[in-house]
Formats: sequence, structure tokens, C-alpha cells
Amino acid sequence: MLNSDEKVNDYLYPMKIFEITTYLESLAPINSQESYDNCGLIVGDKNSEVTNALLTLDCIEATVDEAIEKKCNLIIAHHPIVFKGLKKITGKNYVERTILKAIKNDIAIYAIHTNLDNYKNGVNKKIGEKLGIKKSKILQPTENKLNKISVYVPKTHQNHVMEAMFKAGAGNIGHYSECSFSSPGNGTFKASAGTKPFVGEIEKRHTEEEIKLEVIVATYQTDQVIQAMLLVHPYEEVAYDIFQLSNKNNFEGAGMIGDLETAISEKDFLQKLKDTFACKVIRHTALLDQPIQRVSWCGGSGSFLLPNAIAAKADIFITGDFKYHEFFDADNQLIIADIGHFESEQFTIELLNELIQKKFPKFAPCLTGKITNPVNYF
Ligand SMILES: [Zn+2]
Repeated sequence: MLNSDEKVNDYLYPMKIFEITTYLESLAPINSQESYDNCGLIVGDKNSEVTNALLTLDCIEATVDEAIEKKCNLIIAHHPIVFKGLKKITGKNYVERTILKAIKNDIAIYAIHTNLDNYKNGVNKKIGEKLGIKKSKILQPTENKLNKISVYVPKTHQNHVMEAMFKAGAGNIGHYSECSFSSPGNGTFKASAGTKPFVGEIEKRHTEEEIKLEVIVATYQTDQVIQAMLLVHPYEEVAYDIFQLSNKNNFEGAGMIGDLETAISEKDFLQKLKDTFACKVIRHTALLDQPIQRVSWCGGSGSFLLPNAIAAKADIFITGDFKYHEFFDADNQLIIADIGHFESEQFTIELLNELIQKKFPKFAPCLTGKITNPVNYF
């Protein structure tokens, strides 16, 4: 419950957990997470009122302690504390102990992970900002996550149907919304006995001037768009097609790439990287004695994107968790710079704070004061 003496968050209404999470998922939908992931509310009741939220990269026992101390009953973490199914929760490892402690203290745990990685203004956009790169694009756009819907609608109902589909999420291409294409034509049908056709007579072929309306839609929104369309379409039996597209979605995906305004030397760039991300060490491949201008990066474990970085002619690829043998794959085509998983994603906390405050300006989340990086450097 909200404590009225508490001046930390001077918002005017008691906000519920789902109000924050629904908003975050409107930016970074759960369906855009990777298959191995477990984003969303992991512990807690979405209808609970939020006292305050603690933003962190990892949620471990110390994070729950911090939440208790700072009177936050919601932890918003980048990494999910639970990835796989748990059959027993007895406290035998840190995952189970964290969950037990959270439940005992009525603290909810929410994770926004690869859906935030894949979001165009997410984890990697923030890293680009820190690198001083103004214009960046997705390094590996998602594929096979778009459908096209064609629906045949009588001319009189074209706008009505189109509006409903737009409202349900169709017609968004990058920074453009309400995109559609319409072409006129004639539809025929013969209604059988027992039907109630919108136009025409029973058992008689009818020709109707129709519009073929085409819109693009994300796969995860396809069902809701179809339902919205059926609700307002005047026909008893609606003719529509759903086509799976292999188009890339350039506004969602893994990693990013962009150019520095002016090229700088490799050593200067590495030093800048070290300072910006407060790295104790950067593991990197051989320097190539070439200036750095085109930079590619991926917060966390991004080694799978090395071929994309090479194909895009990046001078350097920055990420964490590169393995020994993977370093060889740089093959003198670019420099791999492993700055550490935690280090690369540390600004995600700042990002979450900005996203939340943009929507709820009177809500001031707590930023964790704990370094949860399990890796130490001697
Ligand atoms: Zn990570």
C-alpha cells in the first residue's frame, strides 16, 4: 500500500504493477523476446499497488534486500532470475533463495530482457548514445515476424474496417503508421438458404463492388487485428488472406551499427571505451593499424553477431562474453572488443529510468546502488 507520508513518489494516484509493465511491453512486447528467455512478471501480483520500483540489471538476494530497505515492492530487472522451470523452491541455490525472499516480503520481480535488447530504442540504442553515435541502425533485423492481411470489403465499409485494423495494431512500418493499400474490384457470392447476406438475394449469384484492403501487421498482433476486423466487417462470411512475409523488420532486432562523426585511432577509441564503460580490462583482438569509424555493438553476449558486423564492414565489434576460439573469427577483418557483459549493459538501468519517467513523470524509480556483476578482476 502507499504510505501517504512517503514523499519519494509524489504521483497523484496509486499505480498498479500492471500499469508499468503494460507500458513497458507496449514498447518492448514480450513476443519479441528470444525463445530461451523468460521476460515478464516472474514473482508477484500484477494488481498490487506499487510503493516504488527498484531498477537493476540482475535480481539477486542482495537486490531484494535493497528493495526492502528502499521500500520498493517491485524490482524491474534486465536479466530474469528464472529462466527454466523450477520444480521445488526450497532455497538450495541463489535463484530459489531470491524468489523465497521476494515472496516472503511481498516484492514483485519483473524482467525485461531480450525484448528490451530487440527494441529499437532499447539497450543497444543507449549504448550507441554513450559511444557518441548519433545515427545507428539494427545490426541483425528480425525476420519472419511480419504478416500481410488482405481483406475484401464492400466500398461503403472500407474506412470503418481500415480504422478498426489500424487501431488494433496494423499498418505500422518503421516511423510510419496507418499504412495500407486499397484496390477496387468485383466480388461475387451466392448465399445459400438460411443465410442473411448483407447484400444480394438467396440462391442468386451477386456481384458487389469491393475493395481489397491490404495492411502489414506484426505476427504477434495478427489475431487481434483479425478479430477487430471481423467485428466491424458487415459480411457474415468474411473473405481474407494472411500472408507470412519474409521481409526484415529493420526496426527490431539484435545489435546495432553506426558511424563516429570523425574517425579516431584504435588506441584512442579503446581508451574512450574503457573510460565510458568503466572497464577494468578490455579483451581485444590484434589492432589493425586503421582508424575506427564504423562501430558495431551488442550489449551482453553478442558474439553470434560477429558475421553481421564483418558483413557490414564495421571497424570494431563491441560486446561481452567472447570465447577464446571465437576471437580467431575476427580474422583481421575488424577488431573484437570484449568489454564484459555487465559493463556493456550497465546503462540499461538508466534507460529503464528514462523510459518509465517519460510516461510517468511523477513516478521516481530507485536505481540500484549495488554492483551485481559476478565477475571480478584481480
Ligand atoms: Zn545481459
